[in-house]
Amino acid sequence: MHDKRVALITGANKGIGLQIAKDLAAHGFTVLVGARDHERGIAAAKAIGPDARAVQLDVTSKSSIDAAAARIRTELGRLDVLVNNAGISHTGKPGRSVAEVFQSTRPSVASLDEVRAVFETNVFGVIAVTQAMLPLLREAPAGRIVNVSSGLGSLTLNADPGFPYRGASNVTYSPSKTALNAVTLAFALELASTRIKVNAVCPGFTATDLNNFEGTRTVEQAAREPVRLALLDANGPTGTFSNEDGPLPW
Ligand code: NDP
Repeated sequence: MHDKRVALITGANKGIGLQIAKDLAAHGFTVLVGARDHERGIAAAKAIGPDARAVQLDVTSKSSIDAAAARIRTELGRLDVLVNNAGISHTGKPGRSVAEVFQSTRPSVASLDEVRAVFETNVFGVIAVTQAMLPLLREAPAGRIVNVSSGLGSLTLNADPGFPYRGASNVTYSPSKTALNAVTLAFALELASTRIKVNAVCPGFTATDLNNFEGTRTVEQAAREPVRLALLDANGPTGTFSNEDGPLPW
């Protein structure tokens, strides 16, 4: 059996996922850099160091997910941490401004195909990857699942007139993160009597490709809360939604 703890981070070839992978490697994990483009995953793993391995993983592809799970079982035998980080904000061309994206994904005009595609990655992808990895997480002494969500998924915050990002309300990204929060809670409740903890986090508005680098936080700041939840000890919570400042309303 592999002696180091093992963490799989989806969408870890860039952005917040890459930083989470770097931080977990620094905490002594063998990190599995999930990337749908294997070459990009290999480059990212190389940049992290000898304890990082690239794993081809498209969260919308059953065959890719099954192959990744089979490989992890053969090579490592278990998974200690799963960070469901891969996510998309739209299906349009890269480089669109946040304002442009939210304009085209307003409830009255959004394309249903785009709603479906965003949910496919941000919600169904998380369910599929989690189901495939659960047998490996059950092999670990203290399995941890961290779902990278968003404050935009909080119904309570979106209904609050004082919420600064309320103008960003749409029927694609925000509801996908609301659904992801519900999925997080459902897994946490089912797994409550096991050693596995499942939590959702918001990394904050962070400068990455996802928002055309308009975010105001750095990836180093964004990775802090996901990493904290990945490292929870046995007394830590399950079924929570939080950011770096503390609990967030669902
Ligand atoms: P990036 O666009 O920089 O990174 C997204 C990652 O997800 C990339 O590695 C991308 O791969 C990957 N990805 C997308 N689709 C798939 C797929 N089908 N299968 C596997 N991987 C996929 O964005 P961020 O780093 O900002 O986003 C990371 C997470 O943080 C997301 O869940 C996002 O919703 C969340 N978040 C981000 C915020 C922000 O302000 N940046 C705020 C709140 C939440 P590829 O390189 O191939 O496209």
